[in-house]
Parts: sequence; structure tokens; C-alpha cells
Amino acid sequence: MRYISTRGQAPALNFEDVLLAGLASDGGLYVPENLPRFTQEEIASWAGLPYHELAFRVMRPFVAGSIPDADFKKILEATYGAFSHSAVAPLRQLNGNEWVLELFHGPTLAFKDFALQLLGRLLDYVLQKRGERVVIVGATSGDTGSAAIEGCKHCENVDIFILHPHNRVSEVQRRQMTTLFGDNIHNIAIEGNFDDCQEMVKASFADQGFLKGTRLVAVNSINWARIMAQIVYYFHAALQLGGPARSVAFSVPTGNFGDIFAGYLARNMGLPISQLIVATNRNDILHRFMSGNQYVKQTLHATLSPSMDIMVSSNFERLLFDLHGRNGAAIAGLMDSFKQGGGFSVEAERWTEARKLFDSLAVDDAQTCETIAEVYEQTGELLDPHTAIGVKAARECRRSLDTPMVILGTAHPVKFPEAVEKAGVGKALELPAHLSDLFERDERCTVLPNDLKAVQAFVSQHGNRGKPL
Ligand SMILES: *Cc1c(COP(=O)(O)O)cnc(C)c1O
Repeated sequence: MRYISTRGQAPALNFEDVLLAGLASDGGLYVPENLPRFTQEEIASWAGLPYHELAFRVMRPFVAGSIPDADFKKILEATYGAFSHSAVAPLRQLNGNEWVLELFHGPTLAFKDFALQLLGRLLDYVLQKRGERVVIVGATSGDTGSAAIEGCKHCENVDIFILHPHNRVSEVQRRQMTTLFGDNIHNIAIEGNFDDCQEMVKASFADQGFLKGTRLVAVNSINWARIMAQIVYYFHAALQLGGPARSVAFSVPTGNFGDIFAGYLARNMGLPISQLIVATNRNDILHRFMSGNQYVKQTLHATLSPSMDIMVSSNFERLLFDLHGRNGAAIAGLMDSFKQGGGFSVEAERWTEARKLFDSLAVDDAQTCETIAEVYEQTGELLDPHTAIGVKAARECRRSLDTPMVILGTAHPVKFPEAVEKAGVGKALELPAHLSDLFERDERCTVLPNDLKAVQAFVSQHGNRGKPL
């Protein structure tokens, strides 16, 4: 399988190189040159497979030529065997034909474990084979950091540095990162906000001199391997609800457009999906595009669903590439005008094409809390605020009551006690067994000023299992 850039000017790469790449050299994102397509019979024959076996069948074409089948199977079994629920991604019924796909049974209680547990193992495998070491520098507003550290903590050849905004992530989220120790794990609290952290990561990719030749790897959702891993659970859910004979709709709490883009790919690979709902919080750039063909940057709002607090959705470029007939020059032009003017619209036919599949809704904090309370009253299920946004959007935007509606349950409510409290649900939140002593554990973290040079100096001082690069 070969991968090409959405801006058309970077060399095509194989899976191994795309795994180790960040942005393409032309500033674009990598996508498969040809998407695999499965027949209905083939998909139907996967019904009842354990999660890791289904994962093998769905992802095999993407790693073809880079990872032999037997090795890939072993990696997938280890990855999904580490989840705490034996079904890995169980479906829970909320209402007639309305379901939550619980994606929070991994080690850090958010769906990001599906991709980052796999990414860590893939990196380990590929780096061992190549005899290389890499450094990861990632920024997090909460969930990505802990999932990335959990995914990479056992990697022999990876040093991981996670930047989070000092005093601006929830205590559960911070402790999930800072209580993991290892000489290759480095938590850095930046005296700044999330955007400052993200800017430092971007600047470090642009100028890697401080790494003295060590390769820098991306763990945010621009990394293709993360998208790939998320395709699997769309198949998993649909197969349990009568697919592929019957089509299924999905509502996806969305920030960077990574998770929902995986659903779009599942559909293009042959899975009958009749509707994809983009559910956003008040940071609604995607909703403004889907509802009015305006992709325009606005100021950032802090919400009760912080994992979706973004101004720009980095993976949206991957959808735009398809909407423009995979014309890289057109995408480079759009992204240029976005950078210069802060926004764009696409031609009417392209927007209409997107609207055949996608609907959208922006949900504010008050509606989020109302939905948490409503669902708790109806079912006794306690939703996290991100999932609640997905439920609200599903109920508003649903096109057909006959088609099963699956809401992606992106996080466990215990990660976001503030929203649950504001919803007025009088239920005590309990940490799952493997995290029950989280608040008693020691923490390790370095506070650094909002200064790129200070961060880069820290990385080069500690980037070789705590020793200088
Ligand atoms: C990351 C995250 C999202 C948003 O996912 P994207 O792939 O960025 O759209 C939604 N909910 C939770 C809990 C998350 O951690």
C-alpha cells in the first residue's frame, strides 16, 4: 500500500514510512493512494469474529508489504487483549434502535486508546526491525497525552515528551499522565495554554536541529495509523446491528475530524453507512461548514467537553481532498487562502456532495448537561459530556428511525466530573479498578516556561532514556 499527500507535492510513502512521518513535506496529510474495497459477502463473513480478528481483516490491506500477517495478528491480539471489557467495544442500547458504542474500556478511558495502544506496538515493531530510535513530542489538552504515554511506555526505542498546559487540564487527566513513570516518559507542564503547546510541537517539526539527527514522530491524529485503527469499530458496530445487509447511521462527537473521517473511510471501503453526524460543541467550525458552507476560524471557547475545544480541524483536509477529486493543487490553494484570510467556502456541487452523507449540530454546555440528565433519567446510563453531545445531535439530525443509530461513546464519565456534576445527576463517579488508587499515586512532571528554546533544550537533554541525545 502506498500513501500520497493531500497537497500533491510530497513523495509517496509505504506504511512503515508513513507511520514514522508527521506532516508530509509539502504540508499535507498522508492518505492511501487506493482505498481497499470489500464485497458485501466478505464483510458479512466477518460477523461474530473477536475484535482483534476483525481488526486484522479490516487493516491488513493498509499494512500490506510492511508487516507480515503473522506478526500483525500478534500485535493486534496484544493490543486489544489489554482492554478491560472482553467485547472491547460493546454496544449499549439507549432507546429503540439507538445505541452507544462504548469506546472507553481501554487503559485511559477514552477512544484514543484504540489507536494509540496500537501505534505504540507498531512503532516498537518497526523501530526494532530498523534498529532506530525516535522521539515523540506531542501536545495535549487532556486525552491524547495519557493515551500516547500508555501506548508508548513499553517501547524500547521511543522517548515520549508530552506537553500540557499547566493547571489547565482536569485532575484525572493530569494524573493519568503524571503517574506513569519510566526513563523514556517525560511530562512537561507549559506555563501557557493548549495552543502554545501545539505551536511548540509544530515549530519543532519544522526545525529539528535540536534533535541531533533523531527522528521526530507525530502522535496527534494527523498520523495515518491512528485513523486506520479507528475504521475497525465502525465495522464492528455495524456487524452487530444487522450490517452489511442493513445500513447503519453514526453520530460522532467531533474535534479534529479524525474519528468521523474513519467512519467516512469505512463507508468507502464498502460498509453500508447511510448517515454520519458531525456533533460539535460551541467550537463549531465543522458545523458551520456542513450547515452553511463556511469554513472560517473563530475564537476558542473553553467548554465542558474540552477534548473537542478546537478552532481548526486538522483532518478535515483529508475529506476536502476527496471532495476536490484528489486534486492536491486545489487543496494547497484552499489551505493557503485559509492561512491568509482565515476561511473559505467550496463550490456548491462539492458542498452538496458532502451533505449527501454528513449532517451536523453544535451543542452548547447547557444542552450537554440537559442531555446527560435526560439520558440518565431515561436509562440509568451516565454519559460523559462528549458522548452526550453525540446523543443530542443524533436525536436532532436523525434521518430515519428504521436505521440503527450508533453514537460513539468517546470517553468514560469519570474523566469529566465537572460536567456530570453540573448536570445535577446525583450519582457518585467511581474510577475503574485499574485506576482506583489514582489520587494516591506519586506524580512526576516538569514545569517549563512558555518558551520553545527551553522545551527543545529539555528534550535534547533527556531524549535518550533520560540522557542527552
Ligand atoms: C479526541 C476526542 C474527541 C474528538 O475526536 P476527533 O478525532 O478529534 O474528532 C471526542 N471525544 C473525546 C472524549 C476525545 O478524547
